[in-house]
Amino acid sequence: MSLTLNVDGERWRSHLLRTVRAHPGIVPVAKGNGYGLSVARLARRAQWLADHADDTGAALDTIAVGTYDEVGDAASRYAGDLLVLTPWRPFGAALDLDARLASRVVHTVSRPEDLVDLRERHPEARFVLEQLTSMLRHGMTRRDLAAAAATLGSGRSGLRGVAMHLPLNTTSHLGEVSRLINDVVASGLPTRTVFVSHLTEAELARLATTYPDFTVRPRIGTDLWLGDRGALSVTATVLDVHEVERGDTFGYRGRSAPKHGHIVVVSGGTAHGIGLEAPTGDQSLKARAATLARGGLDAVGFVRSPFSIDGKQRLFAEPPHMQASMLFVPSGARVPCVGEDIEVRVRFTATDFDRVFIA
Ligand SMILES: *Cc1c(COP(=O)(O)O)cnc(C)c1O
Repeated sequence: MSLTLNVDGERWRSHLLRTVRAHPGIVPVAKGNGYGLSVARLARRAQWLADHADDTGAALDTIAVGTYDEVGDAASRYAGDLLVLTPWRPFGAALDLDARLASRVVHTVSRPEDLVDLRERHPEARFVLEQLTSMLRHGMTRRDLAAAAATLGSGRSGLRGVAMHLPLNTTSHLGEVSRLINDVVASGLPTRTVFVSHLTEAELARLATTYPDFTVRPRIGTDLWLGDRGALSVTATVLDVHEVERGDTFGYRGRSAPKHGHIVVVSGGTAHGIGLEAPTGDQSLKARAATLARGGLDAVGFVRSPFSIDGKQRLFAEPPHMQASMLFVPSGARVPCVGEDIEVRVRFTATDFDRVFIA
């Protein structure tokens, strides 16, 4: 009766171990909806990975969470340090951090003035300094880094490294990373640790040889938790099936069936993050005229859904409801039974599953 994420546990766990083994210094990222698995579950699994350091050969001393609001969920299940990816600011959730957890947190600081403020409030605070990258999300410019270096001086401080968040899918990050590392050296900051995202194994290896005095620590979420898609499947339960003739009305909007077929009601709706799919392919007038001529269901306004029956993606009979969706299955196709599970294609980072089964 649920939208369910099914995990082949053995296959998933061996992928996790393999990924950690291949990335010494890895910082697993457990944020947001936990990539579909929840932050709590990922934090527990990160602790399991830390406990398997003998297998992986890699100590796992830190995980990353997205926000200060996620710290509590992770902290009670994972015993190591918690790097917060959202930069510290002198307001809001950062200031509400539970004092008992503060010593386990590593802050991200992205503005020179925040560095001064944070250290005034918490002289013992540990932090990484984020560098501005071509993403232009958060971070310090070269000049900001020099200002931060002046603030910190050469003595002991909570500085744990610098962090850079790089765009996805660029041909190579190496040029940009080299420039950023050179900025770290030029700034005089007393650190040789760099936290990075979205570098390939080959890029990480290249950096290790180019900058042997630096420790490069990859922050990895997607490729760790979701890296072996074959270990994951998503299913929805068929809750009801209604045969309709052409002209029969159904749904919130009382629309009428364009031809004989079945309305199939399945679990999973807007509350789970199930949305309308982008219209199929070519939406030019000419293409639409051709579809109309063929009498396709998309011509009568049915939109592609992420639900599939027997490998065929089905159309929504109307937009998804809060906890359920209505599909239209034209006559000729096999009609699934009530209680049967069908496949769903989702974006894991934007889906709230009713259940996660790790077999
Ligand atoms: C989300 C995030 C990551 C992890 O990204 P994935 O693509 O899931 O590996 C790394 N660094 C930062 C700053 C992030 O926000």
